[in-house]
Amino acid sequence: MASAPFASELAAELADDVLERFLRYVKIDTQSVDRAGRRPSSDKQLDLSRLLVEELRDIGLSDAELNEGASVFASLPGKGGTPVVGLIAHVDTTPDVTGAGVTPIVHRGAGGARIELPGDSRQVLDPEHLPALAERTGHDIVTSDGTTLLGADDKAGIAEIMAAVAFLAKNPTRPRAPIRVAFTVDEEVGRGAEDFDLDAFGADVAYTLDGSGLGEVEIETFSARSVRITISGLSVHPGTAKGKLVNAVKLAAELVGSLPADRLSPETTEEREGYVHPSRISGNAEKTIVDFIVRDHDDDLLEEHTKLLRSLAKDVAEREPRAHVEVEERDSYRNMRPFVERTPRAMEAAFEAIRRVGVEPKLTITRGGTDGAVLSSRGLPTPNLFTGGQEYHSVREWASVQDMASAAAMIVELAGVWSEPDPDPSE
Ligand SMILES: [Zn+2]
Repeated sequence: MASAPFASELAAELADDVLERFLRYVKIDTQSVDRAGRRPSSDKQLDLSRLLVEELRDIGLSDAELNEGASVFASLPGKGGTPVVGLIAHVDTTPDVTGAGVTPIVHRGAGGARIELPGDSRQVLDPEHLPALAERTGHDIVTSDGTTLLGADDKAGIAEIMAAVAFLAKNPTRPRAPIRVAFTVDEEVGRGAEDFDLDAFGADVAYTLDGSGLGEVEIETFSARSVRITISGLSVHPGTAKGKLVNAVKLAAELVGSLPADRLSPETTEEREGYVHPSRISGNAEKTIVDFIVRDHDDDLLEEHTKLLRSLAKDVAEREPRAHVEVEERDSYRNMRPFVERTPRAMEAAFEAIRRVGVEPKLTITRGGTDGAVLSSRGLPTPNLFTGGQEYHSVREWASVQDMASAAAMIVELAGVWSEPDPDPSE
Protein backbone atom coordinates (compact mmCIF):
# COMPACT_ATOMS: atom_id res chain seq x y z
CA MET A 1 0.00 0.00 0.00
CA ALA A 2 1.20 3.55 -0.72
CA SER A 3 2.05 5.49 2.41
CA ALA A 4 0.28 8.73 3.33
CA PRO A 5 2.21 11.96 2.64
CA PHE A 6 3.95 14.04 5.31
CA ALA A 7 2.48 17.27 6.69
CA SER A 8 5.39 19.41 5.46
CA GLU A 9 8.65 19.16 3.52
CA LEU A 10 10.54 19.48 6.78
CA ALA A 11 8.55 16.61 8.31
CA ALA A 12 9.35 14.47 5.25
CA GLU A 13 13.03 15.34 5.59
CA LEU A 14 13.12 14.38 9.28
CA ALA A 15 11.02 11.21 9.02
CA ASP A 16 13.76 8.66 8.33
CA ASP A 17 15.97 9.89 11.15
CA VAL A 18 13.09 9.96 13.65
CA LEU A 19 12.04 6.43 12.74
CA GLU A 20 15.58 5.02 12.77
CA ARG A 21 16.21 6.48 16.23
CA PHE A 22 12.82 5.42 17.54
CA LEU A 23 13.29 1.78 16.46
CA ARG A 24 16.69 1.77 18.12
CA TYR A 25 15.61 3.36 21.42
CA VAL A 26 12.53 1.16 21.99
CA LYS A 27 14.73 -1.96 21.96
CA ILE A 28 16.48 -0.76 25.11
CA ASP A 29 14.57 -1.91 28.21
CA THR A 30 14.07 1.11 30.49
CA GLN A 31 11.16 0.03 32.66
CA SER A 32 10.91 1.95 35.94
CA VAL A 33 9.84 0.37 39.24
CA ASP A 34 7.02 1.44 41.55
CA ARG A 35 7.82 2.24 45.21
CA ALA A 36 11.48 1.44 44.68
CA GLY A 37 12.79 3.73 47.40
CA ARG A 38 15.80 4.57 45.25
CA ARG A 39 16.49 6.85 42.31
CA PRO A 40 16.63 5.98 39.54
CA SER A 41 14.18 3.24 40.45
CA SER A 42 16.00 0.89 38.02
CA ASP A 43 19.58 1.15 36.76
CA LYS A 44 18.68 0.00 33.26
CA GLN A 45 17.01 3.34 32.52
CA LEU A 46 20.50 4.83 32.47
CA ASP A 47 21.54 2.50 29.61
CA LEU A 48 19.48 4.72 27.33
CA SER A 49 20.55 7.93 29.13
CA ARG A 50 24.23 7.09 28.54
CA LEU A 51 23.61 6.25 24.88
CA LEU A 52 21.85 9.60 24.46
CA VAL A 53 24.80 11.45 25.97
CA GLU A 54 27.09 9.87 23.36
CA GLU A 55 24.71 10.56 20.51
CA LEU A 56 24.20 14.18 21.60
CA ARG A 57 27.97 14.68 21.64
CA ASP A 58 28.24 13.12 18.16
CA ILE A 59 25.59 15.54 16.93
CA GLY A 60 27.71 18.39 18.27
CA LEU A 61 26.12 19.13 21.64
CA SER A 62 29.50 18.76 23.28
CA ASP A 63 28.41 19.64 26.85
CA ALA A 64 26.01 16.68 27.02
CA GLU A 65 26.23 14.90 30.36
CA LEU A 66 24.35 12.65 32.74
CA ASN A 67 24.09 14.80 35.87
CA GLU A 68 23.68 14.04 39.57
CA GLY A 69 19.90 14.36 39.31
CA ALA A 70 20.00 11.38 36.87
CA SER A 71 18.96 13.64 33.98
CA VAL A 72 20.80 14.10 30.70
CA PHE A 73 21.31 17.80 30.03
CA ALA A 74 22.75 19.26 26.80
CA SER A 75 22.76 22.60 25.00
CA LEU A 76 22.55 23.80 21.44
CA PRO A 77 23.52 27.47 21.16
CA GLY A 78 21.22 29.84 19.28
CA LYS A 79 20.53 33.51 18.67
CA GLY A 80 21.62 35.74 21.54
CA GLY A 81 19.08 37.80 23.47
CA THR A 82 16.24 35.36 22.87
CA PRO A 83 14.62 33.08 25.47
CA VAL A 84 16.29 29.72 26.10
CA VAL A 85 13.90 26.92 25.15
CA GLY A 86 13.91 23.60 27.05
CA LEU A 87 12.91 20.30 25.42
CA ILE A 88 12.15 17.47 27.84
CA ALA A 89 11.30 13.78 27.48
CA HIS A 90 11.58 10.79 29.82
CA VAL A 91 13.65 7.64 29.20
CA ASP A 92 11.60 5.23 31.37
CA THR A 93 8.57 3.16 30.42
CA THR A 94 5.66 2.20 32.66
CA PRO A 95 6.04 -0.52 35.35
CA ASP A 96 2.61 -1.85 34.26
CA VAL A 97 3.63 -3.60 31.03
CA THR A 98 6.91 -5.32 30.22
CA GLY A 99 9.41 -3.33 28.16
CA ALA A 100 11.98 -6.14 27.79
CA GLY A 101 12.61 -7.63 24.36
CA VAL A 102 10.58 -5.08 22.41
CA THR A 103 10.42 -6.08 18.72
CA PRO A 104 9.06 -3.06 16.84
CA ILE A 105 7.24 -3.66 13.57
CA VAL A 106 6.62 -1.00 10.91
CA HIS A 107 3.33 -1.67 9.12
CA ARG A 108 3.80 0.41 5.96
CA GLY A 109 0.69 2.28 4.83
CA ALA A 110 -1.44 0.24 7.24
CA GLY A 111 -3.17 3.15 9.04
CA GLY A 112 -6.96 2.89 8.81
CA ALA A 113 -6.89 -0.89 8.45
CA ARG A 114 -7.05 -3.75 10.97
CA ILE A 115 -3.60 -4.67 12.27
CA GLU A 116 -2.99 -8.05 13.90
CA LEU A 117 0.01 -8.30 16.17
CA PRO A 118 1.93 -11.49 15.31
CA GLY A 119 3.19 -12.37 18.81
CA ASP A 120 -0.30 -12.73 20.33
CA SER A 121 -3.32 -13.40 18.11
CA ARG A 122 -5.67 -11.82 20.69
CA GLN A 123 -3.99 -8.44 20.23
CA VAL A 124 -5.59 -6.61 17.33
CA LEU A 125 -5.63 -2.92 16.49
CA ASP A 126 -9.13 -2.44 15.17
CA PRO A 127 -9.97 0.92 13.57
CA GLU A 128 -13.60 0.33 14.54
CA HIS A 129 -12.62 0.77 18.18
CA LEU A 130 -9.68 3.12 17.64
CA PRO A 131 -10.88 6.35 16.01
CA ALA A 132 -7.31 7.72 15.90
CA LEU A 133 -6.20 4.71 13.84
CA ALA A 134 -9.26 4.98 11.57
CA GLU A 135 -8.37 8.64 10.87
CA ARG A 136 -4.80 7.81 9.80
CA THR A 137 -5.47 6.23 6.44
CA GLY A 138 -2.25 5.10 4.79
CA HIS A 139 0.00 6.12 7.70
CA ASP A 140 3.00 3.94 8.47
CA ILE A 141 2.15 2.43 11.87
CA VAL A 142 4.72 1.14 14.35
CA THR A 143 3.64 -1.47 16.91
CA SER A 144 5.28 -4.07 19.14
CA ASP A 145 4.72 -7.75 18.32
CA GLY A 146 1.88 -7.76 20.88
CA THR A 147 3.79 -9.32 23.77
CA THR A 148 5.37 -6.11 25.14
CA LEU A 149 4.61 -2.42 25.15
CA LEU A 150 6.09 -0.38 22.30
CA GLY A 151 7.57 2.42 24.39
CA ALA A 152 6.40 5.35 22.26
CA ASP A 153 5.72 6.81 25.71
CA ASP A 154 8.16 8.43 25.73
CA LYS A 155 10.77 7.22 23.23
CA ALA A 156 8.78 8.89 20.46
CA GLY A 157 9.43 12.18 22.29
CA ILE A 158 13.13 11.36 22.67
CA ALA A 159 13.55 10.37 18.99
CA GLU A 160 11.78 13.56 17.90
CA ILE A 161 13.94 15.82 20.08
CA MET A 162 17.12 14.02 18.93
CA ALA A 163 16.20 14.22 15.22
CA ALA A 164 15.24 17.89 15.59
CA VAL A 165 18.43 18.97 17.37
CA ALA A 166 20.53 16.90 14.93
CA PHE A 167 18.86 18.77 12.08
CA LEU A 168 19.32 22.16 13.76
CA ALA A 169 22.99 21.42 14.51
CA LYS A 170 23.54 20.54 10.84
CA ASN A 171 21.77 23.71 9.67
CA PRO A 172 23.35 26.46 11.76
CA THR A 173 22.21 29.31 9.49
CA ARG A 174 18.58 28.53 10.20
CA PRO A 175 17.39 31.05 12.84
CA ARG A 176 16.89 29.42 16.22
CA ALA A 177 16.64 30.21 19.90
CA PRO A 178 19.18 28.58 22.21
CA ILE A 179 18.02 25.07 23.15
CA ARG A 180 18.44 23.06 26.34
CA VAL A 181 17.66 19.35 26.16
CA ALA A 182 16.72 17.19 29.18
CA PHE A 183 16.03 13.46 29.34
CA THR A 184 14.68 12.48 32.77
CA VAL A 185 14.16 9.15 34.57
CA ASP A 186 11.22 7.79 36.60
CA GLU A 187 8.47 9.93 35.10
CA GLU A 188 6.14 6.92 35.09
CA VAL A 189 6.49 6.48 38.84
CA GLY A 190 5.76 10.14 39.49
CA ARG A 191 9.33 11.15 40.27
CA GLY A 192 10.45 12.59 36.94
CA ALA A 193 10.95 16.16 38.08
CA GLU A 194 12.61 15.21 41.35
CA ASP A 195 16.19 16.49 41.62
CA PHE A 196 15.63 18.46 38.41
CA ASP A 197 18.07 21.36 38.76
CA LEU A 198 16.19 24.29 37.25
CA ASP A 199 19.11 26.71 37.68
CA ALA A 200 21.53 24.38 35.94
CA PHE A 201 18.97 23.75 33.21
CA GLY A 202 18.69 27.50 32.67
CA ALA A 203 15.68 27.52 30.33
CA ASP A 204 13.14 30.37 30.24
CA VAL A 205 10.36 28.20 28.87
CA ALA A 206 10.20 24.45 28.27
CA TYR A 207 8.08 21.78 26.61
CA THR A 208 7.66 18.13 27.49
CA LEU A 209 7.35 15.95 24.38
CA ASP A 210 5.11 13.47 26.16
CA GLY A 211 1.64 13.96 24.67
CA SER A 212 -0.23 11.88 22.16
CA GLY A 213 -2.43 12.79 19.17
CA LEU A 214 -1.32 15.02 16.29
CA GLY A 215 -1.46 18.75 17.00
CA GLU A 216 -2.31 18.47 20.69
CA VAL A 217 -0.99 20.97 23.22
CA GLU A 218 -1.72 20.46 26.91
CA ILE A 219 -1.44 23.25 29.44
CA GLU A 220 -3.80 21.75 31.94
CA THR A 221 -3.23 18.79 34.24
CA PHE A 222 -5.04 17.52 37.29
CA SER A 223 -4.20 18.87 40.71
CA ALA A 224 -3.31 15.83 42.72
CA ARG A 225 -3.41 14.97 46.41
CA SER A 226 -3.04 11.72 48.28
CA VAL A 227 -5.02 11.12 51.45
CA ARG A 228 -4.21 8.32 53.88
CA ILE A 229 -6.85 7.39 56.46
CA THR A 230 -5.53 5.24 59.27
CA ILE A 231 -8.13 3.51 61.43
CA SER A 232 -6.96 2.05 64.74
CA GLY A 233 -9.33 -0.38 66.41
CA LEU A 234 -8.96 -2.49 69.54
CA SER A 235 -7.69 -5.97 68.91
CA VAL A 236 -8.74 -8.68 71.36
CA HIS A 237 -8.53 -12.47 71.06
CA PRO A 238 -11.69 -13.40 69.12
CA GLY A 239 -12.51 -16.03 71.74
CA THR A 240 -12.95 -13.41 74.44
CA ALA A 241 -13.83 -10.43 72.26
CA LYS A 242 -17.45 -9.92 73.21
CA GLY A 243 -18.10 -6.26 73.93
CA LYS A 244 -14.41 -5.41 73.53
CA LEU A 245 -13.16 -5.93 69.96
CA VAL A 246 -13.23 -2.88 67.71
CA ASN A 247 -12.43 -4.22 64.23
CA ALA A 248 -10.53 -1.72 62.06
CA VAL A 249 -11.08 -3.88 58.95
CA LYS A 250 -14.86 -3.51 59.28
CA LEU A 251 -14.61 0.22 59.93
CA ALA A 252 -12.42 0.62 56.83
CA ALA A 253 -14.97 -1.33 54.78
CA GLU A 254 -17.70 1.02 56.08
CA LEU A 255 -15.62 4.01 55.10
CA VAL A 256 -15.08 2.76 51.54
CA GLY A 257 -18.74 1.71 51.36
CA SER A 258 -19.87 5.22 52.26
CA LEU A 259 -18.27 6.76 49.14
CA PRO A 260 -20.73 7.96 46.49
CA ALA A 261 -21.52 4.99 44.23
CA ASP A 262 -22.43 6.70 40.97
CA ARG A 263 -20.11 9.70 40.80
CA LEU A 264 -16.74 11.08 41.90
CA SER A 265 -14.78 7.93 40.97
CA PRO A 266 -12.37 7.26 38.06
CA GLU A 267 -14.85 4.70 36.69
CA THR A 268 -17.76 7.19 36.58
CA THR A 269 -16.06 10.41 35.44
CA GLU A 270 -14.43 11.91 32.35
CA GLU A 271 -13.00 15.16 30.98
CA ARG A 272 -13.10 17.85 33.68
CA GLU A 273 -14.77 15.75 36.39
CA GLY A 274 -12.57 14.99 39.37
CA TYR A 275 -12.65 12.03 41.72
CA VAL A 276 -11.67 10.39 44.99
CA HIS A 277 -10.25 6.92 44.45
CA PRO A 278 -9.48 4.35 47.16
CA SER A 279 -6.37 2.92 45.54
CA ARG A 280 -5.10 0.63 48.28
CA ILE A 281 -6.24 -0.92 51.53
CA SER A 282 -4.05 -2.81 53.95
CA GLY A 283 -4.13 -3.87 57.56
CA ASN A 284 -5.82 -6.02 60.18
CA ALA A 285 -8.37 -5.77 63.01
CA GLU A 286 -5.95 -3.68 65.06
CA LYS A 287 -5.10 -1.15 62.38
CA THR A 288 -6.17 -0.63 58.77
CA ILE A 289 -4.89 1.94 56.30
CA VAL A 290 -6.93 3.16 53.33
CA ASP A 291 -4.99 5.16 50.72
CA PHE A 292 -6.92 7.50 48.46
CA ILE A 293 -5.87 9.60 45.53
CA VAL A 294 -7.87 12.77 44.98
CA ARG A 295 -7.88 14.51 41.60
CA ASP A 296 -9.46 17.60 40.05
CA HIS A 297 -8.51 20.31 37.55
CA ASP A 298 -9.99 22.89 39.93
CA ASP A 299 -8.15 23.46 43.21
CA ASP A 300 -11.34 24.49 45.04
CA LEU A 301 -13.07 21.28 43.98
CA LEU A 302 -9.97 19.30 44.99
CA GLU A 303 -10.39 20.81 48.45
CA GLU A 304 -14.09 19.93 48.43
CA HIS A 305 -13.36 16.27 47.55
CA THR A 306 -10.80 16.19 50.35
CA LYS A 307 -13.37 17.66 52.74
CA LEU A 308 -15.76 14.84 51.84
CA LEU A 309 -13.10 12.28 52.83
CA ARG A 310 -12.44 14.13 56.09
CA SER A 311 -16.14 14.13 56.94
CA LEU A 312 -16.57 10.41 56.08
CA ALA A 313 -13.59 9.67 58.33
CA LYS A 314 -15.18 11.74 61.07
CA ASP A 315 -18.44 9.80 60.69
CA VAL A 316 -16.56 6.54 61.28
CA ALA A 317 -15.00 7.98 64.43
CA GLU A 318 -18.39 9.21 65.67
CA ARG A 319 -20.11 5.89 65.09
CA GLU A 320 -17.36 4.07 66.96
CA PRO A 321 -15.82 6.39 69.58
CA ARG A 322 -13.43 3.66 70.77
CA ALA A 323 -11.68 3.72 67.38
CA HIS A 324 -9.04 6.24 66.47
CA VAL A 325 -9.19 7.72 62.96
CA GLU A 326 -6.37 9.76 61.54
CA VAL A 327 -6.29 11.64 58.20
CA GLU A 328 -3.02 12.57 56.50
CA GLU A 329 -2.88 14.64 53.31
CA ARG A 330 -0.05 15.20 50.84
CA ASP A 331 -0.13 17.34 47.69
CA SER A 332 1.56 15.65 44.72
CA TYR A 333 1.30 18.24 41.94
CA ARG A 334 -0.90 21.15 40.92
CA ASN A 335 -2.75 21.93 37.72
CA MET A 336 -0.10 23.75 35.69
CA ARG A 337 -2.55 26.02 33.88
CA PRO A 338 -2.33 29.10 36.18
CA PHE A 339 1.48 28.85 36.13
CA VAL A 340 1.72 28.39 32.35
CA GLU A 341 -0.74 31.24 31.74
CA ARG A 342 1.68 33.69 33.33
CA THR A 343 3.72 33.23 30.13
CA PRO A 344 1.07 33.34 27.38
CA ARG A 345 3.74 33.07 24.69
CA ALA A 346 4.57 29.51 25.86
CA MET A 347 1.31 28.27 24.39
CA GLU A 348 1.12 30.71 21.48
CA ALA A 349 4.58 29.75 20.21
CA ALA A 350 3.63 26.06 20.29
CA PHE A 351 0.46 26.78 18.32
CA GLU A 352 2.43 28.80 15.75
CA ALA A 353 5.07 26.07 15.37
CA ILE A 354 2.36 23.44 14.81
CA ARG A 355 0.65 25.61 12.18
CA ARG A 356 3.99 26.00 10.36
CA VAL A 357 4.15 22.22 10.05
CA GLY A 358 0.76 22.37 8.33
CA VAL A 359 -1.16 20.89 11.24
CA GLU A 360 -4.14 22.33 13.12
CA PRO A 361 -3.18 22.85 16.79
CA LYS A 362 -5.66 21.90 19.49
CA LEU A 363 -5.71 22.56 23.19
CA THR A 364 -6.46 19.47 25.27
CA ILE A 365 -6.59 18.71 28.97
CA THR A 366 -4.93 15.75 30.59
CA ARG A 367 -6.52 13.59 33.28
CA GLY A 368 -3.17 13.05 34.86
CA GLY A 369 0.06 14.85 35.55
CA THR A 370 3.26 15.48 33.62
CA ASP A 371 6.78 16.40 34.63
CA GLY A 372 5.78 19.81 33.29
CA ALA A 373 3.15 20.21 36.02
CA VAL A 374 5.84 20.08 38.70
CA LEU A 375 8.31 22.21 36.73
CA SER A 376 5.63 24.82 35.95
CA SER A 377 4.71 25.20 39.61
CA ARG A 378 8.43 25.59 40.36
CA GLY A 379 8.60 28.51 37.93
CA LEU A 380 9.43 27.03 34.52
CA PRO A 381 6.32 27.15 32.30
CA THR A 382 6.24 23.73 30.60
CA PRO A 383 3.31 22.81 28.33
CA ASN A 384 3.10 19.26 26.99
CA LEU A 385 3.26 18.63 23.23
CA PHE A 386 2.09 15.74 21.04
CA THR A 387 4.43 12.92 19.96
CA GLY A 388 2.22 10.81 17.67
CA GLY A 389 2.09 7.82 20.04
CA GLN A 390 -1.25 6.23 21.02
CA GLU A 391 -2.72 3.63 23.43
CA TYR A 392 0.01 4.16 25.98
CA HIS A 393 0.76 1.62 28.73
CA SER A 394 -0.60 -1.29 26.69
CA VAL A 395 0.72 -4.06 24.44
CA ARG A 396 -1.39 -2.44 21.70
CA GLU A 397 0.55 0.83 21.93
CA TRP A 398 1.21 2.24 18.45
CA ALA A 399 2.70 5.30 16.76
CA SER A 400 2.27 6.91 13.35
CA VAL A 401 5.53 7.63 11.53
CA GLN A 402 3.87 10.58 9.76
CA ASP A 403 2.79 12.09 13.10
CA MET A 404 6.20 11.51 14.73
CA ALA A 405 7.79 13.32 11.78
CA SER A 406 5.33 16.20 12.28
CA ALA A 407 6.32 16.38 15.95
CA ALA A 408 10.04 16.54 15.06
CA ALA A 409 9.29 19.27 12.50
CA MET A 410 7.27 21.13 15.15
CA ILE A 411 10.34 21.19 17.43
CA VAL A 412 12.51 22.67 14.65
CA GLU A 413 9.82 25.29 13.92
CA LEU A 414 9.47 26.04 17.63
CA ALA A 415 13.18 26.88 17.85
CA GLY A 416 12.58 29.28 14.96
CA VAL A 417 9.46 30.90 16.46
CA TRP A 418 11.28 31.64 19.74
CA SER A 419 14.18 33.30 17.86
CA GLU A 420 11.73 35.86 16.47
CA PRO A 421 10.57 38.97 18.37
CA ASP A 422 7.54 38.41 20.62
CA PRO A 423 4.56 39.26 18.39
CA ASP A 424 2.60 40.45 21.42
CA PRO A 425 5.08 41.88 23.94
CA SER A 426 2.30 43.64 25.91
CA GLU A 427 1.40 40.38 27.64
ZN1 LIG B 1 5.09 9.66 29.26
